[in-house]
Amino acid sequence: MEDVYTRLAAHLDNLPAGFPPTESGVELRILKRLFTPEEADIAAGLVMMPEPPAAIAKRLGVDPGPLADALADMSRKGLVFRLRKNGETHYMAAQFVIGIWEYHVNDLDEDLIRDFNEYVPTLMKKTWERTETKQLRVVPVARSISAPMTVMDYDAVETLVRKQKKIVVAPCICRREHDMVGKGCGKPLETCLVFGGGAHFYEENGLGRSITRDEAADLLHKGVEAGLVLQAGNAQTPMNICMCCGDCCQILKNLNTLEAPADAVSTSYCAEADPDACTACEACVDQCQMAAIEVEETARVLAQRCIGCGLCVAVCEFDALRLVEKGPEERHVPPVHPFNTYMNMARERGLL
Ligand code: SF4
Ligand code: SF4
Ligand code: SF4
Repeated sequence: MEDVYTRLAAHLDNLPAGFPPTESGVELRILKRLFTPEEADIAAGLVMMPEPPAAIAKRLGVDPGPLADALADMSRKGLVFRLRKNGETHYMAAQFVIGIWEYHVNDLDEDLIRDFNEYVPTLMKKTWERTETKQLRVVPVARSISAPMTVMDYDAVETLVRKQKKIVVAPCICRREHDMVGKGCGKPLETCLVFGGGAHFYEENGLGRSITRDEAADLLHKGVEAGLVLQAGNAQTPMNICMCCGDCCQILKNLNTLEAPADAVSTSYCAEADPDACTACEACVDQCQMAAIEVEETARVLAQRCIGCGLCVAVCEFDALRLVEKGPEERHVPPVHPFNTYMNMARERGLL
């Protein structure tokens, strides 16, 4: 009989974000650290649509009472996702990233961190790099947006935050796990903004704290001051905004290993330098998380490395940098809703 962890791994790999197998089996080690066999069996039976426990029990042919208790417990442990719908608690499958991994920000240990870091290269190569639709997209920092640029509301980070009814800020798991093994970068930790149903889940599970829109806007300013790249969920109505650093963020770290990170991100912008205004002070070089700027006599942006974050523009005191919009064929229009994002990813991975 197939091992329950192998079955759960295959199930997670069939979700849009994927959970690809490795030769070493490190992905199974990770699941064994997180799930008991009984929990793995239940998780392998959930789908990515919210269902009440009775419907899940009927589908799985099990007693609804104990299943409801087990699901409540598993959702508190961050193994499945929980939400309220029409006054009733529903459960659905959580993807491995963004999902199960992030829900463990408060109970990491060194073994789990080691296994996760062993697994990340496979995860990135076999999922992130292969799908045209990414889970996150780069949004330009507000101070990099200048008059001639037309920025859609979904690319205007403060507009995105101002539209939210419920915002929770959580610690960044990438910086926390690096910090726990002595590789921390010292940048702010409380930087993951979560909206809507995800925000309620985070708050109820003690993963983050509820904040106002003004507090969220203030955190965004502080993140930019600290040189953090803004990455939003890849939809016009994103469920989250991440503030990421090149040292710890597993996505940016992987992008940094590529010759042309610009080809592997969703962005509509690229920085451009004005040699007449540049004083070669190199402030932008330190700020860029992608090593996309070279300064000889003046600064030069390596377009194939630039992910359009705008951090360099914000830091240049001589107005020698600006963001420019890419041509219409290269511009990124995010899917309207996260549901569309995940449908696209599933299609691109050949799951539909
Ligand atoms: S580095 Fe970025 S992607 Fe990673 S948890 Fe932190 S904010 Fe999210
Ligand atoms: S920060 Fe501005 S002035 Fe300084 S090197 Fe970069 S582009 Fe030139
Ligand atoms: S050059 Fe670097 S800092 Fe500037 S927009 Fe591009 S990636 Fe961001």
